[in-house]
Amino acid sequence: MSFANTHTEKAPRSNISPASERRTSPTTEGPEILARTRVHIRDIEVGGKGFVVIAGPCAIESAPQIREAASLVSAHGAHILRGGAFKARTSPYTFQGLGLDGVRLMRDAADAQGMPMITEVLSERDIEGMVEFVDAFQVGSRNMDNTSLLKELGQTNKPVLLKRGFAATIKEWLLAAEYIIVGGNNQVVLCERGIRTFSNETRFTLDLAGAVLARQQTHLPVIVDPSHATGNPALIPALAAATMAAGLDGLMVEVHPDPTVALSDADQALSPELYRGMMEQLHLLASVMGRPLS
Ligand code: PEP
Ligand code: MN
Repeated sequence: MSFANTHTEKAPRSNISPASERRTSPTTEGPEILARTRVHIRDIEVGGKGFVVIAGPCAIESAPQIREAASLVSAHGAHILRGGAFKARTSPYTFQGLGLDGVRLMRDAADAQGMPMITEVLSERDIEGMVEFVDAFQVGSRNMDNTSLLKELGQTNKPVLLKRGFAATIKEWLLAAEYIIVGGNNQVVLCERGIRTFSNETRFTLDLAGAVLARQQTHLPVIVDPSHATGNPALIPALAAATMAAGLDGLMVEVHPDPTVALSDADQALSPELYRGMMEQLHLLASVMGRPLS
């Protein structure tokens, strides 16, 4: 199978065909894709002209924490609230998330800000309980290969953010997306979140080239998560700017009202100050690049 790389030229953003005329396969050989897919997470379009920022804590910890986080990320221009209720932690002895109670707390916090929200689904068993509360499902890096979960998400009518497995090739990532799409759900956003390399100075290695390549080889929007990629808040604003400069569709970042007390991924959370600075920088860059950010 080959991934023809002519799709971006053949699919100008200004010439979008109706959904009925689109190919839905990101990976099929043969005739060019007619148009880039635009994914709608409620009223937020991903894959259009604008650059979309998804921000929030690693995990939903309590009602006040997620409310404060939602208010903070919204105040500085994030479009979509993120936060994990079902956490895929490396160790079973660490905080595993609040489960469906957390999803409900996040729904309230997002509604209070008038924002859509996204949260990770770990198992197909949880889809039914979650689907009425979430605006989009996230599939985590550790689940990219979980084909039964992907197939089940293909049967839902909610968009899916598909993170790249940290040891997955681009081709494997795109074929994972195809598992969702062939089920009938073409509302898929790809998210590069770092891959494992020999380097251990950062948590993972951000494959920015791979993200750009994935966007050239498919009609799907591609965003970047520099939080998990680097594990280092000091590096995140620079990689967020690089993501926008590379012409990608958006960003997912972890932000905590007080990272010193965060129950998961405390070391990589952006503080309110760093988050504000990052957003100010992105607004400047967006105006230079002609990318709407608000
Ligand atoms: C997350 O975004 O909460 C997360 C667990 O990320 P990843 O699946 O990329 O490790
Ligand atoms: Mn995290």
